[in-house]
Amino acid sequence: QEVVSKIAAGEVIERPASVVKELVENSIDADSDKIEIKVNNGGKDLIQVIDTGYGMTREDAELALERHATSKITEANDLFSIRSLGFRGEALPSIAAISRLTMKTRTEDKLGGTLVKINGGEIKKIEDAGCPIGTNIIVKDLFYNTPVRYKYLKTSATEIRRISDIVNRLALAYPEITFKLSHNQKKVLETPGNGNLMDTILSVYGKEVAKSMIAVDYEDKYMQVSGYVSKPNISRASKKHQSFFINRRYIKSRALSEAISKAYHTLLAKGRHPIAILTIKLNPVLVDVNVHPTKMEVNFSREKEVASVLQNGVKEALSNADL
Ligand code: ADP
Ligand code: MG
Repeated sequence: QEVVSKIAAGEVIERPASVVKELVENSIDADSDKIEIKVNNGGKDLIQVIDTGYGMTREDAELALERHATSKITEANDLFSIRSLGFRGEALPSIAAISRLTMKTRTEDKLGGTLVKINGGEIKKIEDAGCPIGTNIIVKDLFYNTPVRYKYLKTSATEIRRISDIVNRLALAYPEITFKLSHNQKKVLETPGNGNLMDTILSVYGKEVAKSMIAVDYEDKYMQVSGYVSKPNISRASKKHQSFFINRRYIKSRALSEAISKAYHTLLAKGRHPIAILTIKLNPVLVDVNVHPTKMEVNFSREKEVASVLQNGVKEALSNADL
């Protein structure tokens, strides 16, 4: 039992950044308008996520820590029609199996909340506790009981970079949510949460990048593309700074990246990639998706069509821009 759950946990949780991704996605699913992430030593010592979401009752909290107990859906064939980011009910129990986890949570209709403490999957404490509405999860000593996994962790600097990449992307996908990230008590990111993508880009990438952005706003029969791409001469340009979201889900796709390069064509020096933050909206029934639990990579049908609409949208934006 214990071994099985540790193995399964390793499949979902590879590194501190996976913990952050899962916890923050849960906070987004819970309708939080503010999500605060505190990390120490690249997440190896501590990861804390505090949200202002709808929280859990004591029964919900107990259930949430059981494997495959998702409150979100029962069957997941068409991922894009799922409104929530999570749907497997694996993340929380997996994290709890390989760390020392403390959770405090409270719903709006209750005066008090619940405190749960779990070490290596074993519930140590579950009791009433005073706390604000929302959920506050502390994950300490990740992989303390799976030393082989622990050994594969990279330096604190590398792990925090991965965490910050993920938080940046989630922040760009949800400009209406305030994201705060700190590492060893130092502020790394704070977004305004005012719903404005440009203001969010400013917090994530800074003034120079924000100033060089060109708005993309394009509609095709089936799809809508909006967001920003950078002017061709921007210095920070790299594929790392391209984020694509289909119906608000982050997508890593070489085809979409290539579509952007094609739209710039000769405007771009060889081997250079513009910054791009682009959202594609389309009817969920038009795409089939499947995701690997740990990977950001998502396979989706109609990648070619999406790529070509993206290319047209970016091309149009560039031709109207003052470069
Ligand atoms: P999934 O997200 O796939 O449903 P998780 O293991 O990530 O599975 O979470 C299990 C359940 O715990 C969720 O379905 C949800 O009901 C509850 N939950 C987890 N995190 C939160 C949170 N921050 N706020 C409210 N509910 C939460
Ligand atoms: Mg989840």
